[in-house]
Amino acid sequence: MDYKKLADLLYPNAKDIEYYEKKYPERNLKEGAEVCRFAPSPTGRVHMGNLFASFVPEVFAHQSGGVFILRIEDTDQVRILENGVQLIYDDLKTYDYQIDESPLDGGEYGPYVQTERKEIYEAYAKYLVSIGRAYPCFCSAEDLDAMRKRQEERKEQIGYYGKYAKCRNLSLDDVKKHLDNGDKFVLRLKSMGDPDKKFVFKDLIKGAIELPQNNLDQVLIKSDGIPPYAFAHVVDDHLMHTTTVTRDDSYISSVPYHMELWDAFGFKKPKFAHLLPINIKDGDIIRKISKRKDPWAAISYHHENGIPVEAVKLYFATLLNSNFEGWLLQNPDKSYRDFKFTFDKMSKSGSLFDMEKLTNISKNYLSKLKASEVFELLSTWAEEFDKDFYDLINNYKDYTIRVLNIEREQKKPRKDFAFYSEIKNHIWYMFDELFTDVEYDFGVNTIDNVKEIVNLYVKNYYNADDDKDTWFNKIKALSDELGYASDMKAYRENPEGYKGSVADVSNIIRVALTTKSMTPDLYEIMNILGKDRVLDRLNRVNNL
Ligand code: GLU
Repeated sequence: MDYKKLADLLYPNAKDIEYYEKKYPERNLKEGAEVCRFAPSPTGRVHMGNLFASFVPEVFAHQSGGVFILRIEDTDQVRILENGVQLIYDDLKTYDYQIDESPLDGGEYGPYVQTERKEIYEAYAKYLVSIGRAYPCFCSAEDLDAMRKRQEERKEQIGYYGKYAKCRNLSLDDVKKHLDNGDKFVLRLKSMGDPDKKFVFKDLIKGAIELPQNNLDQVLIKSDGIPPYAFAHVVDDHLMHTTTVTRDDSYISSVPYHMELWDAFGFKKPKFAHLLPINIKDGDIIRKISKRKDPWAAISYHHENGIPVEAVKLYFATLLNSNFEGWLLQNPDKSYRDFKFTFDKMSKSGSLFDMEKLTNISKNYLSKLKASEVFELLSTWAEEFDKDFYDLINNYKDYTIRVLNIEREQKKPRKDFAFYSEIKNHIWYMFDELFTDVEYDFGVNTIDNVKEIVNLYVKNYYNADDDKDTWFNKIKALSDELGYASDMKAYRENPEGYKGSVADVSNIIRVALTTKSMTPDLYEIMNILGKDRVLDRLNRVNNL
């Protein structure tokens, strides 16, 4: 068979691959720089699972001084969503992923949408035909059905291979006849594999994997000229000079086929890292994150709830490398980008999405920021999701920053909020505008006792200029004066001898000022509220 002639017959207009090999030369990157890509189908918004799957190549590319590509794999037309590319792009950008090449940014190695690469695929398909590794198959759906039935009856391997691969043996004349007839064809790989022989492959995460060789003459190009995933990714990763392919581990079983294709072309293969999906525990079962069943996994949920972008990435970093958390503890002020991630420190058994852990990471993260930084993040969130609160905090920007700074710049800073949506709940009482229809819960204390304390405090003890020690000594003196123990030890030894303790007294003042019995440091709160607000609120209680 003259394969060259067959190639010309099938693809008379296709370019020689030399054209593309020249057009997309080796990248000029420093030694060790990785080219990685995230290659989703444009099926809608990203969820936490995909976000992690794209975090990995982004991190490996950039920590090595390399390139991160967003490539859109839209050859499966059924799954396409209008606007799908933009949605994915926006989601990745929300998480500050640095995208170097993409359909929206362009780049020297594009187009970055597979359906726009049809001509390229045709050239490479033609090349495989010309070297005798691919052939046209004119079998009809009925032929293939009949074949499958026969294989099932005989309990044989299902698929197009060996003696069943009848179009392998078509002569040039047979092919010509079919083409003249206007018959449609798919292009198939001429597989040289033997399933009785082993294929060994080294995955960066899982290590050595042994599988049977591929012997199926798989479809490389469909009758509409569009290639399925396998062929497209080999051509794309070759021409884009991907150095490490990171992808879902569901592709593992197809690796022998993919490698046969790489070898058929004679291309240098990239390294492969098959990622285990992040699972979740759903009752007794462990399953993949699902867009439908897990609304909390949607980026929109994270956005609305104000889950900090950086916290999610820190959480991903702990999933990516088991030793990251320890490192972060030693290097609390560093960015995750300063850590050297490796594939061998990645879990081989997968991980479970743990909201509680993300929450803790987030609390820690927010506790380390400056109050002004928290303000900016909160303000950006509130602008979209709580406009009234946005207006309020921006009307009192400096004041809000002081509020956010309570118990912040200290060795053990406050860690009571994890998400921006929770902050209002922790600071609302600092704003008169929100301190309107309030209700107080003074616990076991009668309102007369409460008023007695508040009254005397206003009259004889409160002074906005007191320092912290003077302030507390006054609360103690007030306690003594009204029959509350100022010394906790004495109180514990003889609780009956007192109306209560200094803790009750300060708590009454706390509730009077904030309605809450748990707040950060009361002295700081009073200082920031300032004299007018403090007196106003205390008098309010007196007038109850
Ligand atoms: N388009 C494939 C998917 O969405 C990507 C696989 C790959 O990264 O090679 O699963």
